[in-house]
Amino acid sequence: MSHEPPNDCPPARGDSTRAVHGAGAAQNPYGSVTTPIIQSATFTFASTADLIAYLKRKAAGGAVDYEEYARFGSPTVDAVEKKLAALEGGDDALLYPSGMAALTSVLLTILRPETHVIITDDCYRHTLEFCLNFLRKYQIETTVVPFNDMAALEAAVIPKKTRLVISESPTNPYLRVADLDALVRTAKKHRLLTLIDSTFATPINQRPLAFGIDFVVHSATKYLAGHNDLLAGVVIGRKDRIAALRDSRLLLGGIVDPQPAYLLERGMKTVALRVAQHNASAQRIAEHLEGHPAVERVWYPGLPSHPDHAIAEAQMRGFGGVVTFELRGSLDATAGFIDRLTIPHLAASLGGVESLIQQPAIMSHFDKSPEERAALGIKDNLVRFSVGIEDADDLIADLDAALEPLRAARSIPS
Ligand SMILES: *Cc1c(COP(=O)(O)O)cnc(C)c1O
Repeated sequence: MSHEPPNDCPPARGDSTRAVHGAGAAQNPYGSVTTPIIQSATFTFASTADLIAYLKRKAAGGAVDYEEYARFGSPTVDAVEKKLAALEGGDDALLYPSGMAALTSVLLTILRPETHVIITDDCYRHTLEFCLNFLRKYQIETTVVPFNDMAALEAAVIPKKTRLVISESPTNPYLRVADLDALVRTAKKHRLLTLIDSTFATPINQRPLAFGIDFVVHSATKYLAGHNDLLAGVVIGRKDRIAALRDSRLLLGGIVDPQPAYLLERGMKTVALRVAQHNASAQRIAEHLEGHPAVERVWYPGLPSHPDHAIAEAQMRGFGGVVTFELRGSLDATAGFIDRLTIPHLAASLGGVESLIQQPAIMSHFDKSPEERAALGIKDNLVRFSVGIEDADDLIADLDAALEPLRAARSIPS
């Protein structure tokens, strides 16, 4: 990669070293190798004099060993935040109880009434809903622009009002890859802040901060935690920006309990290993499906047929673990294929060790009419496959068996 993370983490340290050790993960007063789970809502002082000294130190902006109350931060949460910042190559990170809490907290912190947001299409449904419906209540308007269309982005800028551009990379479900260089250049020209939801990429595959992006957000629920066993979200960026978010988190109250914070930190120790396996298996599966007669089209940034393959090759170190494809079949035939699979679970979400599969027309867009789905580009035969860390041979055999009736029904020679 030409873009090295601009942080103080020694560049010689690789991803797995950072993922295991973070920024001094094992430093704690007990000498435990693992991060202690400090399950305490509040923290004591030896005397009033100690308390006053502490408060004075804090008021002067000095470093303190711990906060006086766990909503302000706690030692277990702190340790995870340091590791997340080190992995993503940012100054600082802030952990939230979900990806949506992270995203909405950034927006509520940096936006003001009468400002304007630009968001690229094919983005996470609830992010879009928050911008279009929730922020509107505070006189904050949102314009949706086509993905990677810098002319449309510039045309959407309202002088003195537009404050932020939100994009995702890769997106859901078509795995579009944002041209981060172009995005940052365009945004800077108009003095706009930039936010990338990098959930699908992970810090292992992509480092948006190195391109000049202001805020990187992850649903840590997905690859960072990696085991489908917790909800969390994170924002990573420059020190002063994260400091402003820390102040607002204290008011908004979106803090994680130490237990899930510990689980996240434990899961992250293997993130580089897991992502390497997700990348390799997804690439093999995407190539296999692209050659399968019952498959109409495959969307995977690692395939030359993907519209953003060149961008992905230039700015990503791996193409991720999600493969999206369209079957040659109806809504029901596609559902039948999913029901015949024996390894992937039929479930929402992605990024865990278990393979998860779903049909967006039914799972995430069931409440929409066929016309509304078509307008959003959600086809009946579309399948989103979050490739887990099972053996790729087993997953391919399972996919082939479940595709067989579709192939046979169309009398396509194998
Ligand atoms: C899941 C997801 C979110 C929301 O995260 P939660 O942890 O479920 O709140 C946001 N963005 C993307 C891209 C996601 O996949």
